[in-house]
Amino acid sequence: MKRLHRAPLVLPVSGPPIVDGGVLCENGVIIEAGPYARLKGRGEVKDHAESILLPALINCHVHLELSHLAALGQGPSRLGDMTGWIAELLTARQDSTADGLAAARPVLDGFYQQGVGCVADIGNLPESGKIGAGRRVEVHFFLEMLGFSQRSADNALARMQESHWDCTGHAPYTNHARLLVAAKERARSRNHIFSIHVAESRAEIDFLRDGSGPLRPFIEERGFWDGSFVPPGCGPVTYLDRLGVIDEKTLCVHCVHVADEEIALLAARRAKVCLCPGSNNHLGVGSPPVEKMMGAGITLGLGTDSLASNPRLSIWEEMRLLRQEHPRLDPAAVLAMATRGGAECLGVTEAGALAPGKKAKIIAVAAPGITAAHAADFLTSAGNNVQVRWA
Ligand SMILES: [Zn+2]
Repeated sequence: MKRLHRAPLVLPVSGPPIVDGGVLCENGVIIEAGPYARLKGRGEVKDHAESILLPALINCHVHLELSHLAALGQGPSRLGDMTGWIAELLTARQDSTADGLAAARPVLDGFYQQGVGCVADIGNLPESGKIGAGRRVEVHFFLEMLGFSQRSADNALARMQESHWDCTGHAPYTNHARLLVAAKERARSRNHIFSIHVAESRAEIDFLRDGSGPLRPFIEERGFWDGSFVPPGCGPVTYLDRLGVIDEKTLCVHCVHVADEEIALLAARRAKVCLCPGSNNHLGVGSPPVEKMMGAGITLGLGTDSLASNPRLSIWEEMRLLRQEHPRLDPAAVLAMATRGGAECLGVTEAGALAPGKKAKIIAVAAPGITAAHAADFLTSAGNNVQVRWA
């Protein structure tokens, strides 16, 4: 049986807003989105009065297994002290007796209530891959590899060989070059995206340029400095590109400190970028050159990162923060990051827009009296105040 969702305003994202619009669906798939007048009579009508219909949101980056460490994400900004935060995170993870998986499930359910249909979840523990089982949000889990020294890289390579999960790298400063290359090669052979933290903090830039800054002593203190790492003398995007890691299925997360030539490189490789304004804010690492990346034509998505670096996990909040930091951004472009852009970042072609053939994952946001001209502005500036229902 066909179902025709009707609302005063439909935002397909893949096309212009439709006033008094409809979305015709059958068996969980969208057949058509268009004016109600054109679609009426073709399906049983479900009326969403005083609402905007839009595709479910996409969260391109979260670490659900850190949900029990929310205390780390509270309080004032860390003012860019990345190594201090990582040190606290490692200690908290070691000391915590809380059940990480139990804490993660309500967070995932919370995403569903916010209208998120799909998340990319990054975890270091294979058992974290089960968090999404039986939940209503579609979870794409990636087992994240760590291994900076020769020996820890060998261990990670062995783990990766045994694992049935899709694997990914953590960052240029925590992964041996050999591990980065092997993990990307494996991702390529399995045809999944390769997500990696890139250019998140100044510390990473200094470390890759000439080994200076707080990262070297941080790595030494933890016993992972074996002298095998030689600073490449360039930025992280250039470094990863030299290793062959950057391509159209690479999702570079954060990209706060990317030089103009690295933006051009990302664009040339058609790599994707996930912005995490909430986490960047809390860690105080800075704000990415979003306008430049958009100008270069890079596909952008949004990610909340984890509760350990973000007090409010919500893509609505990420949109609001991004616009607050970059007031000149077009609201429609920001909404696209949370939907179609996110879907492209994750390679989930059946999501992110209300268009024929896409999955009927549709949300209705209460917006009495809203006009087509103001809808994107409203949706991207309301933050968590939005009232969302699944259509
Ligand atoms: Zn992260």
